[in-house]
Amino acid sequence: MLYCVNKNPQSPWREHEVHNVSTCIRLPDPINRQSLWYHLSCWPAKTEAKKYFDNVDWCYWCCKPCHTR
Ligand SMILES: [Zn+2]
Repeated sequence: MLYCVNKNPQSPWREHEVHNVSTCIRLPDPINRQSLWYHLSCWPAKTEAKKYFDNVDWCYWCCKPCHTR
C-alpha cells in the first residue's frame, strides 16, 4: 500500500494525517502530500511519517483500524 502524510497540519490538534493513497476518499491535494512510500499497513506508515513531523495521526477515513486503536 502506498501511503502519504499531509504536509498541512489539521485543526484542532495540528496533526499531520497519514493517508492510504489508494483507498482514501479524503486525500489532501497532491501538492500537500509527502510520500511515505510502501507499507503493509498504516501502523508502520505512521512511524515513517514521524521522520517528517512530530505530531502525526492516522486519517479517520482510510486508516480506521489503526485510528481507533
Ligand atoms: Zn485518509
